[in-house]
Amino acid sequence: MKRKNFLQSAAVGSALIVAAFAALASGSKSGDSNAAERNKAAHWTYTGAEGPANWGRLSPAYELCGLGRKQSPIDITGQTPADLKPIKLDYKATPISVVNNGHTIQVNYAPGSTMKIGATTYQLVQFHFHSPSEHKVGGRSYAGEAHFVHKSADGKLAVLGVLIEIGVENEFLKPIWASMPPSKGANSYPSKTLDPNNFLPAGRAYNRYIGSLTTPPCSEGVSWYVLREPVSMSRAQVDEFRNTISANARPVQAMNKRVLQKSR
Ligand SMILES: [Zn+2]
Repeated sequence: MKRKNFLQSAAVGSALIVAAFAALASGSKSGDSNAAERNKAAHWTYTGAEGPANWGRLSPAYELCGLGRKQSPIDITGQTPADLKPIKLDYKATPISVVNNGHTIQVNYAPGSTMKIGATTYQLVQFHFHSPSEHKVGGRSYAGEAHFVHKSADGKLAVLGVLIEIGVENEFLKPIWASMPPSKGANSYPSKTLDPNNFLPAGRAYNRYIGSLTTPPCSEGVSWYVLREPVSMSRAQVDEFRNTISANARPVQAMNKRVLQKSR
């Protein structure tokens, strides 16, 4: 009988843990309030005491930022050539909303645009920007990087990274930059529809590895596809972004025996 009670309470304990994680995942306030309190999203930054070196200590929910072995971004070097599947993009022009979340300028995307790789289809959820770039190539930073964040029906994340170098003004970015909300938490709704196809480079050769979100909670299991051909933006466009969002790149992380492949 005692053993049965033990098993029952163990089962209840597991259920509580599951409930706490479910609450965390959904952002709900219900569930185990202590666990929810401990795991709540802590404030974080790109510099100082709440900067990248300390993200893993700011909240138990951010543990992977410090302990994870498959983290992003990385320095792209020593790639292994491989027969990788082509990236098939079916992006549609849609109305957008532009959000300043305090860490980046994010463009939320209406459903219906997809990235297909092999048998997996991912929906484009949002894209956002970093300056300088988060990924380096052979130790070199770029002026910026765009991340197109996709999710499959079973919840797997795949990010298409596009490096941005200084050069001619980027026409695609103009309406986004023009409607960048100046303060954190603000949204804007540009009247123009946007077609991300106009932003992407012609070349679709890419580097691939398994990594993580580059911001807390640094969740792993993210498939990264970083296009090898960069696009350009003007110095003035970089400055404009930096005046609204200061430098927002996490330092590169250790590869830890992961494989970095490049499409042929
Ligand atoms: Zn990003």
